[in-house]
Order: sequence, then structure tokens, then C-alpha cells
Amino acid sequence: MFEKVDLLINNSLIVTMNSKRDVIPRGYVAVRDGVIVDVGFGDGRSKYSAEEYLELRRSVVVPGFVCAHTHFYGLLLTGSPWFAFIEPPSDFQQNLQRIWWALDESLTYEDIYVSALLGSILFARTGTTFFKDLLDAPNVTLGSLDYIEKAVNEVGIRGLAGFSVTQRRSIEEGYIGIQENERFVRKTLNDAKTNVKGIFTLHASFTVTDDVLIKSKELADKYNTIYAMHVEEGLIDVYHNIERYGKRPFERLRDIGFLSPRFLAIHGVQITEDEMKILKHYDVKIAHNAMSNMINGVGVPPVGKFLDLGITVGIGNDGYVMDVFENMRATYLVHKVVNKDPRVLTPLKVVEMATVDAAKALNVYSRVGSIEVGKEADLTIIVPEIVHTPLNEHTIYGHLVNSFNGKDVWGVLVKGRWVTKERKVLTVDLEKVLDYAHKVIERLWDRMLSMESKYKVEWLKP
Ligand SMILES: [Zn+2]
Repeated sequence: MFEKVDLLINNSLIVTMNSKRDVIPRGYVAVRDGVIVDVGFGDGRSKYSAEEYLELRRSVVVPGFVCAHTHFYGLLLTGSPWFAFIEPPSDFQQNLQRIWWALDESLTYEDIYVSALLGSILFARTGTTFFKDLLDAPNVTLGSLDYIEKAVNEVGIRGLAGFSVTQRRSIEEGYIGIQENERFVRKTLNDAKTNVKGIFTLHASFTVTDDVLIKSKELADKYNTIYAMHVEEGLIDVYHNIERYGKRPFERLRDIGFLSPRFLAIHGVQITEDEMKILKHYDVKIAHNAMSNMINGVGVPPVGKFLDLGITVGIGNDGYVMDVFENMRATYLVHKVVNKDPRVLTPLKVVEMATVDAAKALNVYSRVGSIEVGKEADLTIIVPEIVHTPLNEHTIYGHLVNSFNGKDVWGVLVKGRWVTKERKVLTVDLEKVLDYAHKVIERLWDRMLSMESKYKVEWLKP
């Protein structure tokens, strides 16, 4: 009489993010073999008998959040003594040279592994179940992505990872980066057990030649993956392209045949109206990182205009703050400030940018990003500790953007498997991970402080 399922979440407020954006005030989600088999109104117990039954007072079920752009290794900088050691950067280019490239060049395989462990734990604990990561580690390029894969698989979330191809030190290193990307794509392509798939990624248009761009794009076409690169984050990207090629970055990328719907452009802060039309024409996706743009002082991209043009924008964190609620809130606020117009971005649009739109940007929307029958059961269950106004189908988007935070996440499921539950990580021993990670990070910081030169990275002109 009752159909058997593995998990029945009952009597919850369900934010489906389906095409009609249905919110079910009191409903259920049924999961079998890692897949959502039913979503509906009322009491799911009238239809299903479940191996595991979950009913929590004032619970909200949302699709597992999707992060359109991160760098796990960015977490290694939090609180680092390096910031006191260097002369503070006064612009974006100095920021890269003095902070990011100094870190990149100091990374070991173990640092990469530790950063991905910490990042995956922080994601899982705050509701993000799917991500896209870019790794820059020029001294340990080959094999480096395996360490991200190992950590992510241990924690149990999932995502896409690529090595950030650059030629800032030598022409050759660009090809070694591509080699690592192709190796990892081939390794993970048909591996049903791994939670991490390879993609083709590059650092930025001002640190790579046309040949490396075209090769990466050709390989992304061959293996049918997305490909991603930072574009127009800082003015250096614009100046370099105009000086060397007589074109702005997106014009150059268009003219060499680089753009397509599977290209994810990260940032686009300095973009012009003409370039926005190019993005629209090629259906290029954007990863927007509001808090990273703030801390780097690079400016604010015209996200309201992207959306008016129908360009898909997913929210990322760029390796800064991993809590999706903080990133949603920053996105919601900053465009109102910069446009002096409180109408820019509704709460619903911001939630879309962290779920369905980010999933579309990563080309995984057929599997994740919404709660619909047939989709994989990546679910985030929120039980807010305090809700100061009524929680219902009319107020939920406002709460998601204005009042909830990562600590309100009660648990997350990935493909129907609990990764966090009762606000605890189930898959790894958190205390052991933290003790181990702190030791590794202290060694990394010591290594950075003992580098012969404060800014040993050389600026290379390709
Ligand atoms: Zn980035």
C-alpha cells in the first residue's frame, strides 16, 4: 500500500526553485537511491513508508546551494602574518603580485589537500553542496587536482575543479597547466564514484597567450566541459589587452573564437555596454563575487544590466567567505548602493543566482539546483535558531536573503547521503581535521615569510 523510499522529509516549507518557483508551505520531499522521487503538498506519510523519516519544527528545505566560483586555497590566507610582512597593495595588480602569487608559489600538495578539506567542510556546514574551484599552484602543477578531489570526496560534497592556466612566469608553464587539466578531465570523466569532475580553466586574459586560450577551448569542446577564466576583474586586464592587441578583453576573446555558451567568465567588473552585448550574443555566463570585489577594491560589475539583458549570473565567493548567505546578502545590497536604487535585485533573483542560475552557469542544471522529481537529492535543510517574523511561502525569500545565515543550516544531503546533520559534519572528524590543518598552515606561513624576496614573482610579458 505504501511505496518505500529511503528518506521522507515531511511537514516542511519547501522552496522548490522549479520553473514556476513553487514554494510549498507544508509539504514533503521523498528520496530513493539518491534521487528525488516526489515533492508534494500535505502529509507524505499517506503515500510513503520511509527508511528514515524527518520532521523538524520550522524547517525549510531548499536545493543545495551552488557556488559558481571559488578557490579553496584562498582560505589559507585568513589571518596570515603575510599581510603585516608586505607593503600593503594599493591596487589589484599589486594585490595579485604581493599576496596571491606569493601564496600560489608557496603551495605544496598537502596545502592544497588541507584547503580543500576546510573549504568542503565550510561549504557543507553552511548549505553549499556543489562548487567550481580554480587552483593556482605553479610549483606543483601536475597531479595537484587529485588532492582537491581526494579532500572533496572525503567530505562528500561535489563540484568541478580546474587548474588555473597561466603564463605569467614562462610560456611553457601554460602548457603544463593545460596538461594537468586534460589529465584530470580524462581521469574523472567516466568515473561514477568521484564527486569531482575536471574542467578547463585559465587564470586571466592578461596572463595567457591566444594559443593557450584556443587550446583550452578546443579541449573543452572535445570533452564537452565548461571552461572558465577571470575576465576584467581589475583594470590591468583591460590595459594589457588594449596595449598588446588593440582590443578590450571580451573583444579579443570573441575575435579568436573563444566564446561560447559553455564559457563562464568570472567577474566582468570593468565591462562596457558593447562587451555586454558580446556576452549576450554568445550566451556567455558570469560568476559574480560581490564580497571578493569589495575586499579587493576592484569595483562593482553591472549585474543589474547583465540581468536586464538576460545574461545568466551565478554567485561565487572567489575563495573569500564560504557562507552562501553572506554572499547572497552582499550581492543583494551592493548593487543597490552603487546604483543608488533599492529596486536593483529582488530577494528571489538573488536566491536564483545561488541555485538555478549558478547550476546553469556550471552546466549541471539538469541534475542539481532545484527540488524536482528526477533531480539528484542535493538538499539543504535550514532550521533557523530565531525567526523574528512569520516564516511562510510569502516571506521565505526575504528570510533567505535578509535574516538567515550559515549557522542556521541544520543539515545537507548530497545525492541523498547526509554530509552534515544536526549542525555537525558526519563524514570526517572535524576536530582532527582542524588540528592537522592548523599545523600545515603554520608551516605554509613560515615558508612564505622565509622567501628570499618579498615579491619574488616576475612579471612576464608573453
Ligand atoms: Zn577567482
